[in-house]
Amino acid sequence: MRENLRGMSPYGAPQLDVAVALNTNENTHPVPQPVVDAISERVSQAAGQLNRYPDREFTELRTALAGYLGHGLGAENLWAANGSNEILQQILQAFGGPGRSVLTFVPTYSMYPLLASGTGTEFIAGRRAEDFTLSAESAAAQVREHTPNVVFLCSPNNPTGTALGLDVVRAVYEAAAESDSMVIVDEAYAEFARFGTPSALTLLEGRPRLIVTRTMSKAFALAGARLGYFAAAPEVTDAIRLVRLPYHLSAVSQATALAALEHKDVLLSTVEDIKMQRDRIVDDLKRLGLAPAESDSNFVFYGGMADAQRMWQHLLDHGVLVRDVGIPGHLRVTAGTEDETTAFLTAVESYLQSA
Ligand code: PMP
Repeated sequence: MRENLRGMSPYGAPQLDVAVALNTNENTHPVPQPVVDAISERVSQAAGQLNRYPDREFTELRTALAGYLGHGLGAENLWAANGSNEILQQILQAFGGPGRSVLTFVPTYSMYPLLASGTGTEFIAGRRAEDFTLSAESAAAQVREHTPNVVFLCSPNNPTGTALGLDVVRAVYEAAAESDSMVIVDEAYAEFARFGTPSALTLLEGRPRLIVTRTMSKAFALAGARLGYFAAAPEVTDAIRLVRLPYHLSAVSQATALAALEHKDVLLSTVEDIKMQRDRIVDDLKRLGLAPAESDSNFVFYGGMADAQRMWQHLLDHGVLVRDVGIPGHLRVTAGTEDETTAFLTAVESYLQSA
């Protein structure tokens, strides 16, 4: 095995059989029946031609994704893969690799270091403030200090939940441009942003080294379909074509995503409800004397308990699985349906009474 993989652990969010699973930031609302029917029909049409390789360029899907994002984007600006994890991996295959580096600001999405080591890219852990925020000045200074080839900005940030201001993205881009580095804004949770939190899609024009990644795993409730995508200058998609595997996006994936996009209004109708549950979690945890971070995503990061590990176990004993993200004194919970959120809050309350 390669030297740099020795001693590492694979990505491993527990997949336990519990009544209320709120640990991987999925959309816990089931796919609505009309969408299930539309997906079945599209996939069934595709099934008859599974003897042939799928459209390698998935142009119909790229056009549909561009239509969804708006901002004057066309199929030439779009790319898709099996989840945004594969998107990020392809980006590192093209722009990172041996002798190159990626900078991000920890704590952030736990897959970034694994994707770095998988592609032989040096991982540089940049710093955030004590309260996990990141200012434009600090971020730009760290980019100038390290001159990485790639910068990952996660906004809203996993696991802390808060979105970055566009001033941070602009400042990082300017600093990165001095060393011809690529800047990736991972917007996996963008659809859950609080009112007025703008997307980095608004910055793409005139910034050829900016890539904005998205996924259908969260707001679209399609984590099982594995469909991530990005928007960038056409030259970026050309670079990614050099590293993608031929026909990487199966005909079944393309059919599923197309059917989902045709029914995006029904699918995205759960977003408002999830945001309401998210805000309810923040308000209630505050009321209970805990310290939740403000969230622009479908999850809440919180501290303020004496023993986070004990609370995690108590919640599990009451059928509620949340995530211990490895940050001492903190846990992360996904906003579920109203009933799931009630189960979580009730279990938190009973923990606090027992503690
Ligand atoms: N980026 C972030 C910040 C995430 O939290 C996740 C999923 N947990 C992903 C990317 C990957 O999602 P997917 O591969 O399902 O698109």
